[in-house]
Amino acid sequence: MTTVHEAHDTIILGSGPAGLTAAIYAARGNCCPLVIHGSQPGGQLTTTTDIDNFPGFPEGIDGPTLMQQMEDQARRFGTAFVQGEVTRVDLEGPPFRVWVEDEIYLCTSLVIATGASPRMLGLPNEWDLYGRGVSVCATCDGFFYKEKELVVVGGGDTALEEAAFLTRFARRVTVVHRRDTLRASPPLQKRARENERIGFRWNSVVSAILGDKEAGVRGVRLKHLQNGQEEELACDGVFIAIGHTPNTALFEGKLEMDEGGYLVTRNGTETSVPGVFAAGDVQDHQFRQAITAAGSGCMAAMQAERYLETLQQAKS
Ligand code: FAD
Ligand code: NAP
Repeated sequence: MTTVHEAHDTIILGSGPAGLTAAIYAARGNCCPLVIHGSQPGGQLTTTTDIDNFPGFPEGIDGPTLMQQMEDQARRFGTAFVQGEVTRVDLEGPPFRVWVEDEIYLCTSLVIATGASPRMLGLPNEWDLYGRGVSVCATCDGFFYKEKELVVVGGGDTALEEAAFLTRFARRVTVVHRRDTLRASPPLQKRARENERIGFRWNSVVSAILGDKEAGVRGVRLKHLQNGQEEELACDGVFIAIGHTPNTALFEGKLEMDEGGYLVTRNGTETSVPGVFAAGDVQDHQFRQAITAAGSGCMAAMQAERYLETLQQAKS
């Protein structure tokens, strides 16, 4: 049976840095926000240990702790939370309608902070071997690879951070990158290059993952992109770290998006529908940092608050 809940001034989709910062501001602005967690409470940072670039933590902080502290701060000012994944939205409002299975939540303003999800290689058996040697999260799965041989795919910050973390367990980590120049920031590059347990395969892609469901991953086939040569590399695990895709499928045909599927925002965090705001990685293909996500979450909450005020003034 469908349950329709009492309307909220502001509903926030997602509990990463963007969603929780929006919640702190909206709650302090008396907008009684409701945050819908989604399938990853705390967002992407819950999959990492060392965050060294979030201001206020001179010794660094681990992702789950930082996100728990943000949630505690949002709760302190009266934010309500719902566990669950939004499966449908109706933006012909206000009020806007948000479905979590059979529950319908109504709101006058909506902040979308659904972030991004890891990209996969698109190889036929990668999902069959997912959890059996194929992973997208070193923090979650690294522990299972003590003294093993591992491959990390990608050349960005995530790939090098994952590779460095995995050397706490693995005997050797080979980073496979499709170019000969890394995209990762200089400090992470330096750390990886200085780590004796990390090796690189340049100008190469993983063209096949070798193994089966019973025995798991036993290796990868690498293709050199300049000479076309293929070779097999034995390994026990493959960590895919080739970036993320914005979580915007729910909004197709409802909100303006760019060619990469990111929500288009103007004048701060306004989307193409008045009263609907977007913050964090879901609308940012350029910076994609915790602090920029948090900053835009703050902007979204302030803009939602002004929108609510304008509606109120128009009524009186
Ligand atoms: P996310 O953190 O992606 O959160 C999205 C939220 O939306 C989640 O709670 C999810 O459950 C929810 N959601 C998704 N779909 C739905 C739905 N249908 N219904 C309801 N909720 C939904 N950045 C740094 O600044 N420093 C770092 O050291 C750093 N390390 C990183 C390490 C790793 C391994 C990764 C992957 C990223 C790292 N980043 C780092 C980047 C940083 O994590 C992101 O920029 C940031 O998390 C984006 O925040 P967000 O709130 O926009 O989205
Ligand atoms: P990213 O910066 O987009 O890098 C993705 C990497 O994967 C690139 O090197 C890319 O190659 C490669 N790639 C993409 N598609 C591929 C494919 N199909 N096959 C093979 N390789 C492919 O993504 P990210 O590393 O996840 O970082 C995302 C954001 O989070 C960034 O803004 C980053 O700064 C941030 N982040 C920050 C930290 C930190 O500050 N400590 C840590 C992690 C992430 P090309 O280089 O050739 O494009």
